Amino acid sequence: MLQAPLPTALPPLRILVVDDQASTREVLSAQLQFAGHAVEEADSAESALQAFQRHRPDLVLLDVEMPGHDGYWVASQMRAAEAGGWTPIIFLSSLDQDHCLWQAIESGGDDYLVKPVSSTVLQAKLRAMQRLRRTQSRLIELSDELRLANEQLTRLSHEDALTGLPNRRSFDARLQQEILAAQREQQPLTLVLCDIDFFKGYNDSLGHVAGDACLQRVGSLLQGICRRPRDYPARYGGEEFALILPLTPRSGAMTFARAVLRTLALTAMPHPSSSVAPHLTLSGGITTCIPDQDTAVEGLIRRADDALYAAKSRGRNCFFSFEMQMDTREQRSASRTAADFQASGRAPLSGFGDLLSPAPPSVNGQK
Ligand SMILES: [Mg+2]
Repeated sequence: MLQAPLPTALPPLRILVVDDQASTREVLSAQLQFAGHAVEEADSAESALQAFQRHRPDLVLLDVEMPGHDGYWVASQMRAAEAGGWTPIIFLSSLDQDHCLWQAIESGGDDYLVKPVSSTVLQAKLRAMQRLRRTQSRLIELSDELRLANEQLTRLSHEDALTGLPNRRSFDARLQQEILAAQREQQPLTLVLCDIDFFKGYNDSLGHVAGDACLQRVGSLLQGICRRPRDYPARYGGEEFALILPLTPRSGAMTFARAVLRTLALTAMPHPSSSVAPHLTLSGGITTCIPDQDTAVEGLIRRADDALYAAKSRGRNCFFSFEMQMDTREQRSASRTAADFQASGRAPLSGFGDLLSPAPPSVNGQK
């Protein structure tokens, strides 16, 4: 399946010739160069390993008997140095015995020729090795392509194709992680579900292409507002978006929601079919908790969804928080009232403890 027809001419090789006899190296090098190959020479085990590392040859012709370390040792060292690669090694030896051939193959060699080797036999062996090497290179290429394709597939399976935001599958997994983290750290976790008001009308009046562009724009705006590394905006489905805001208390969540509405108002994307504003708006449900062992993904989503429903019943273009029992419009006026109380030195309104905290360092209310 993998083999393409082989061309008659194979590309020249870079060959390392290892032999302690200068005359043998000379003869071999001349033959190889005559056939068009490039040759490096080494006269000992040590210089062979250095040349192997330095030149990364396509093939090694390796003498067996050399002073000091022999060719078997050299082959085993070369194999160890390749770490997953494969350079063909052909032994050239004057020893014509079966156990020598056996040892050559065991030490990492691919073939074993007895000297003197005829030029024809040598060229034929080189061609065979070239073919094997081409197949190996192609396999490596295919394996790299497969790895890249798998990476892309993994990314696509976690990403919403239209907005580029994480999709519902990623969102569910991430929410589960953040619930466990918040439970461990005993920190507040906020979940926000929001959707575009009168989106069906938007599509009906402006068309689906504009509708898609609108979803992309809203996704990008939400992403821009989520500035902390662990904030996680996702496309929940249709015109719904979900945001996981770790380390975010109730008041921080409300401040965040107001920032979203303010950004949408400033962006002022025209919405001809909205009965709440001339521009595009969102309704959102917020739930905030310090999770315990009973807190589950489904429960949090249901709670945020109920809050979203409450926001819609309250006239849309607002975010409702169950824990605060108010929406973003009420919270804005409550903030003013609370600030007035604080300025006048009177006791804060009960249940507004978060609102009276010092000004949050970020839009979410915590670092
Ligand atoms: Mg020798």
